[in-house]
Amino acid sequence: MARRSRRAKLLLPLGLLILVGLTVWRLVLTGPERAPYEFGGMTMGTTYSVKIDAPLTAAERAAIADTIDGRLTEVDRLMSTYDSASELSRFNRHASTEPFVVSPPVLEVFAIARAVSERSGGAFDVTVAPLVDAWGFGPAGRPSAAPTEAQLSSLRTRMGYRLVRADRAAGTLVKENPNTVLDLSAVAKGYGVDRVADALLTLGIGSFLVEVGGELRAGGRKRDGTAWRVGIERPDTAMRSVYRALDLIDEAIATSGDYRNFYEYDGMQYAHIIDPRTGRPIPYTGASVTVIDPRAAVADAWATALSVLGPDEGYDLAERELVAALFVIPSDDGFTSKGTTRFRQRHHGAPVNESR
Ligand code: ADP
Ligand code: MG
Repeated sequence: MARRSRRAKLLLPLGLLILVGLTVWRLVLTGPERAPYEFGGMTMGTTYSVKIDAPLTAAERAAIADTIDGRLTEVDRLMSTYDSASELSRFNRHASTEPFVVSPPVLEVFAIARAVSERSGGAFDVTVAPLVDAWGFGPAGRPSAAPTEAQLSSLRTRMGYRLVRADRAAGTLVKENPNTVLDLSAVAKGYGVDRVADALLTLGIGSFLVEVGGELRAGGRKRDGTAWRVGIERPDTAMRSVYRALDLIDEAIATSGDYRNFYEYDGMQYAHIIDPRTGRPIPYTGASVTVIDPRAAVADAWATALSVLGPDEGYDLAERELVAALFVIPSDDGFTSKGTTRFRQRHHGAPVNESR
């Protein structure tokens, strides 16, 4: 008894000393707040959020906030179709077959879009802008009436992803048809996510979750060694809820669907995704498709492409093209899902967590 209490007398102050020491050390290292740190704001007409799971000083946090804002502002300034001064808007006004000099990010996004267009047989097509506008999803807003067949066929003469090509060496984009215009909206958010993720990696930050308008990319694992967990939304127009939780490590996820962004007109529902084969918005099905890829821009473009093709044709294409995709489809008793082989066997083999 006596010996134990003597030891306790010694250990107690020692323990307290260590505890105080650790706390002081942590405060010096991280400041009063604790990781994960969250950054957020508005960009590209939507919201963004960034989580970083690392000890950061106040000065580091300020520098990171600046970097994030800088990257996203740059993407928006280059590619916004809502900003008439953006590089893309200027290219769209350039009604000529003479080469037009664009900056490297625009060339890069164009190259990603082009690759997905080719691999999807043209379901993904960044020249659909006139149709996006005609159906009321562009900067001009809702039309007073749906476009006529004649209007559609006239608009479609200047559509087709092959009508614009890139000259990488010269750093230019060239129009085959002077009236062709580009809309990079279906890939720009994902690209913004990649730009932020790459900037964080350059700063030596490896544990992060970057999100722009619902498109996400996870960097590494969290500090406790677990993966970043994200939710796939139930494609329900009435309420927001998680259909399934997924664990991500060094990969990006993008979801596309006709369930969120659509409007009703004359008893018809119009989605903001256009089927380039028909020139019309994709018919409303209440389904969604989620794509996983190392790059958010690629996942974003594929999610839109597979939305155009739908759960049957899209699923077959995703299987053939080795795309990791999960289709969530309405069924009699709620929703059912269908994942491609690549989706089911993602590289780190993390189990898919059901949370229905
Ligand atoms: P979602 O997250 O629902 O896929 P995105 O913003 O990624 O939405 O893509 C939708 C946008 O892409 C539309 O607002 C339109 O500007 C553009 N778009 C529509 N149809 C196509 C298409 N077939 N290929 C490429 N871009 C398209
Ligand atoms: Mg998209």
